[in-house]
Amino acid sequence: MTSERPQNLVVLGATGTVGRNTLDVARRHRDKISVLALTASRDASALLELCREFKPKLAVLADAAAAKAAQADFRALGVELLAGAEGLSAVASHADAHQVMSAIVGAAGLLPTLAAVRAGKRVLIANKEPLVMAGSLLMNEALHAEATLIPIDSEHNAIFQCLPPGSRCGMPPKGVAGLVLTASGGPFRETPIAELDRVTPAQAVRHPNWVMGKKISVDSATMMNKGLEVIEAATLYKLLPDQIRVVIHPESVIHSLVEYVDGSMLAQLGAPDMRVPIAHALAWPERFESGVSALDLAELGRLRFEPADENRFPCLKLARHALVAGGPAPNVLNAANEIAVEAFLNGQIAFTRIAQVIETCLEQAGGADLPPAADLDAVLAVDAWARQRASSLVASKSGERLHA
Ligand code: NDP
Repeated sequence: MTSERPQNLVVLGATGTVGRNTLDVARRHRDKISVLALTASRDASALLELCREFKPKLAVLADAAAAKAAQADFRALGVELLAGAEGLSAVASHADAHQVMSAIVGAAGLLPTLAAVRAGKRVLIANKEPLVMAGSLLMNEALHAEATLIPIDSEHNAIFQCLPPGSRCGMPPKGVAGLVLTASGGPFRETPIAELDRVTPAQAVRHPNWVMGKKISVDSATMMNKGLEVIEAATLYKLLPDQIRVVIHPESVIHSLVEYVDGSMLAQLGAPDMRVPIAHALAWPERFESGVSALDLAELGRLRFEPADENRFPCLKLARHALVAGGPAPNVLNAANEIAVEAFLNGQIAFTRIAQVIETCLEQAGGADLPPAADLDAVLAVDAWARQRASSLVASKSGERLHA
């Protein structure tokens, strides 16, 4: 951030965990950041409350009925309220926007993220699912439009901070042998494997170190989150699958590491608080305060590392297979995971069935002659196919793979 004038910020998913953390950082730097637009799905009252404080020019509710019902309240505040996917893409590509925080959860973030990228914005990417479902499309569009991508996921932001000066997302970094992504292991790191089919949604969303939205919390419990992050890292940093390793680090203090060809390893450390990567990205290439204190290493005492057990966490293995398979496979993996996680959160399937639904979808995709993720139409077609397959597997009481 080098401009003297405040940078106009759009926050997609403002009412979520990452969105609120972003606004907490923005609140500390009102001289440098001006909020242009805020969006939510359907939580009109939470969005209205944020608009009352940050006074954006524009707001969006993705849900058209919620937007219609809330029009008068936003008008009374002097905020123009838009609706639907078109509204999200309109604010993401707004001519006055300098930075766009992409923090919608799931595939719903693809179109607005793509709109921001195509408009050549500086895009702060927390919403990892679009990078998994349409990675090459997004990276090609970013190159073409000269958009700047800055990762917000703490692991990818850590890597970004540890790469050689001058590195950019979408360009293979010089002198780098590989990456090590750290993972907390989630709430079930030590739960006996035989008990995993009985764990509840309430247990699954109780992450030991991070406060996050429900979907990513379940992804952390299955370690699909780390699997999605392996694909995200391969996409952002143009590395091969076997250059990206995962290690369990229960303290979540080292956020990831870069291995150089000379044997050096560089790590970024910090408290497990999303305001650290968010402040880094908002201020980049400068730095400003995030509201988070530096770590007291002596108090921490020791840091632990363990291998990730793919028998305990089959989703990690499935994500790696999808990355190696390429083509539509990561997109199928992502869509099937979204459906299966939602079904688990709704009490329709057991925790262990999440991986089974995804595995079956990936197997069926192999014989389905799906198009590669070359353009948006192909991406959306594969996403729809996988959602339909996963939904019918969830609904099926007789599908043999769904018996625990
Ligand atoms: P939350 O569930 O807390 O928030 C999601 C946000 O997206 C809310 O503003 C929600 O609005 C909005 N939203 C949900 N569905 C739609 C939709 N269909 N259309 C438009 N907007 C929608 O998620 P998180 O903040 O936890 O995560 C956001 C993204 O960031 C995810 O992709 C996650 O993987 C990633 N991420 C999150 C981290 C974290 O610490 N939480 C860390 C790293 C990455 P409403 O409130 O109205 O429902």
